[in-house]
Amino acid sequence: MKYFDYAATTPPYPEVVRAMSQIMDKHYGNPSSLHRYGEESERLIRRAREVTAGILDVQPAEIIWTSGATESNNLAIKGAALRKGRMQGHLITTMIEHPSVYETFRQLELFGFEVSYINPQPNGTVSPEDILAAIRPDTILVSVMHVNNETGAVQPIEQITRLIKSHHPRVLVHVDGVQGFGKIPMSLKEWGIDLYSLSAHKLRGPKGTGLLYVKLGLELLPLLAGGGQEQGYRSGTENAAGIAGMTKALRLITEQQPQQYKHLCRLRDTLQQAICDIPGLVLTEVIPVAPHIIHFMYPGMKSEVVLHSLEQQGCLVSTQSACSSRKSVPSRVLTAMGMDREHAGSGIRISLGDKHTSEDVEYLIGALRQTVQSLRSLERR
Ligand code: PLP
Repeated sequence: MKYFDYAATTPPYPEVVRAMSQIMDKHYGNPSSLHRYGEESERLIRRAREVTAGILDVQPAEIIWTSGATESNNLAIKGAALRKGRMQGHLITTMIEHPSVYETFRQLELFGFEVSYINPQPNGTVSPEDILAAIRPDTILVSVMHVNNETGAVQPIEQITRLIKSHHPRVLVHVDGVQGFGKIPMSLKEWGIDLYSLSAHKLRGPKGTGLLYVKLGLELLPLLAGGGQEQGYRSGTENAAGIAGMTKALRLITEQQPQQYKHLCRLRDTLQQAICDIPGLVLTEVIPVAPHIIHFMYPGMKSEVVLHSLEQQGCLVSTQSACSSRKSVPSRVLTAMGMDREHAGSGIRISLGDKHTSEDVEYLIGALRQTVQSLRSLERR
């Protein structure tokens, strides 16, 4: 089988697996314990926080470890909205966010908050001016993802943040960085981001670990009350092995990013061209597009049928985001981009990683041709 679903999850680096199994085996102390085993774990986590802060060019105290980006997104958005016991106000997000962001805003509407959902342009990106125009005197937070997990559209985060901060410095900016980090350069400090979510398992790290960058001094209502770990932002015994594994993955992926960018762009361009050349397939042209995500549609054919046919050819791909792919409704993201039901229900996402070669991509192109041919012959019967 060939795996082309890196946007759903990635195989952990062997170095990550080795480091984690060593920690689970030898350093199982609770980092809050006062004895030497506890101190050992606490030291491991402190070191990981320093290294990660160095990679992100922020302060160690600005890194909050979480169980993954779903938790980071919930903590950033609910924590900012509900701080100081507030139960009303205005929030802004987009129609193309991952469910862990979109559904969080839907919940906050139930609590009494008003939310503006900004539609993307037909090219898959949201306009900074549309966001600016939606800001009101009572706007608390704007949340926009860096790279869309379905289409690969790269959002103009730098322009959005600069525009917001120059007109409304008190409005907080949260960025879901899950699909962008390690693929395209970004700078939390220069761009002026207040809150930023990452997930380890999208970066060849372990599942169940993530982080939230919280700008120094920013108050959030914690989602999890308890022993006050992570400076009170996130109670619960820290996952030392996961944190060390995530830090290793962040380091490796950051070191490799410049070469990987070129490598992935080459593979992506070859695939995009091949899709354009196969009659019946329609490439989803988002601009700019990330190096690792290719999206296309086979109008008239349900995504699941195409996915399973490709699986029979030995290639694993995805329909919508991994969390939404079991729901048989047309993609919210494609619908918001203006696609009709027929197109929005026929989308396929291919996502690439550093392990892929030109041969893998040629194999996938062959499988795509074969799939279209066999589905056509079935239709004719
Ligand atoms: N945000 C984006 C853009 C994603 O692609 C995902 C995973 O699919 C998440 C958030 C959720 O991440 P996690 O699986 O760590 O909860």
